[in-house]
Amino acid sequence: MMQTRRTFLRTSAAAGAGLFTEVLGASPAPTVLALPHQTEDVIFLTPDDAAYAAAREVHNAGILTKPKRIAMCATENGVQQTLQRAKSEGWPVAVKSGGHSFEGFSLNDDGLVINVSPCNELHLDSRTGLLTAGAGCRLRDVNRLLLSKGRFLPAGSCATVGLAGLTLGGGYGMFARKWGLTCDHLRSLRMVDGTGTIRDSVTDPDLLWAARGGGNGHFGIVTQLTLQTRVAPRAFSSWKFRAYRLNQALTEKLLEAWFDATAALPNDAFSAWIMNGTQVTVLLTTTGAPEEKGVAAFRRTLTALTNKATSAAPVPLTKALPWYYGEAGPVSFKNTSAGYYKGMADLKGALTGIFQGSAHGAWPCVSNQHARRRNRQRSRRSLPASRIPVSRRSTGVLGKRRPRGGFAGSYREDSRPYRASGN
Ligand SMILES: Cc1cc2nc3c(=O)[nH]c(=O)nc-3n(C[C@H](O)[C@H](O)[C@H](O)COP(=O)(O)OP(=O)(O)OC[C@H]3O[C@@H](n4cnc5c(N)ncnc54)[C@H](O)[C@@H]3O)c2cc1C
Repeated sequence: MMQTRRTFLRTSAAAGAGLFTEVLGASPAPTVLALPHQTEDVIFLTPDDAAYAAAREVHNAGILTKPKRIAMCATENGVQQTLQRAKSEGWPVAVKSGGHSFEGFSLNDDGLVINVSPCNELHLDSRTGLLTAGAGCRLRDVNRLLLSKGRFLPAGSCATVGLAGLTLGGGYGMFARKWGLTCDHLRSLRMVDGTGTIRDSVTDPDLLWAARGGGNGHFGIVTQLTLQTRVAPRAFSSWKFRAYRLNQALTEKLLEAWFDATAALPNDAFSAWIMNGTQVTVLLTTTGAPEEKGVAAFRRTLTALTNKATSAAPVPLTKALPWYYGEAGPVSFKNTSAGYYKGMADLKGALTGIFQGSAHGAWPCVSNQHARRRNRQRSRRSLPASRIPVSRRSTGVLGKRRPRGGFAGSYREDSRPYRASGN
């Protein structure tokens, strides 16, 4: 059947349900996910089209940039046609996969956006463990296919991050200390360069070198990636530690202890520090033994220095990864984050700023709930009305809303009064 813009929109809205059935194993062990197909190589959307809002949607709700056209590209030929059109019209071009660029680099104002989300085929070679993915695949789709086959790809945590943007930028996550970045697993890629020529790193090996963490401003439009997957670890254990009502001195003390404790962690383990106003949550995870020396020492130290320690029994990765999937989006960011700080010296200045801000009634006093309400109101005011139901629908496609912060699961709580002096 020839697809029109309208049928394209309908199949997109129904995609989630099909994807769930496929991955949860109702059909006989497929290696290619039957995601919705767009039969045209490319569909150009204007702001008047019903599908435009969904095609423009990015994870950061604060990005209001509005392209003149969005080209939904399902094939390399579609990307080539789009580049030709952009050239003849003199439109600037941006490239969008998962739309998770915090800064909104995958959109532009009054230009053309090449949206590769219809390039969403996934194929796992069960003999070699090589995953071939269209540039429009999201992390959730990748995880579903791989975990159902006992494989996995060390990557980030957010379900809707695009595999292309993540890999081109590096791809850091809970498994990076042991297995490296997502881009370390990249074996080949295909792209269309600015002249409209198709390039393949198999015949142009420098391209592979440049794409492995070279950053997001790439040489062309990546259409396909091939990555080496790994055998999925059997079990995943996790703990979280919470400290409340911190001041700068207490935060520095806790942070110093955390840096010391992380240095002794084995490579199976990972820890993250999440600060929200005067509250800190420290996450600890491992795919190794929960009683390993460094892990046990970390737990002792953090339990002694925080108000509340909770733990989750070891679970398979299929169960654990969705705990960290985050929100379907779009969301309003009020946080900053970084994958790697060397030590206290990198952070001291920032802490002073945070606590001075707090003393002056700045952002830490805004509760999450209040911020969310305020941001929803802002989005309603500033975005086209069609945008709001679209984002709600996409939450529904995920099945259920995930608890904020990504620390769901069956945690056992071990509350204790906070010891201001620590030890
Ligand atoms: C909520 C959230 C959680 C995150 N979690 C993690 C994490 O755990 N680990 C981690 O490493 N990172 C994480 N990130 C950062 C994320 O990996 C990067 O922002 C990444 O670039 C997003 O890729 P994307 O395809 O989703 O985004 P997009 O906005 O679509 O693209 C990001 C950039 O890549 C370019 N690009 C996208 N597709 C292509 C393509 N096909 N060809 C050429 N260029 C392209 C875009 O032009 C843009 O510059 C997170 C971001 C958010 C918002």
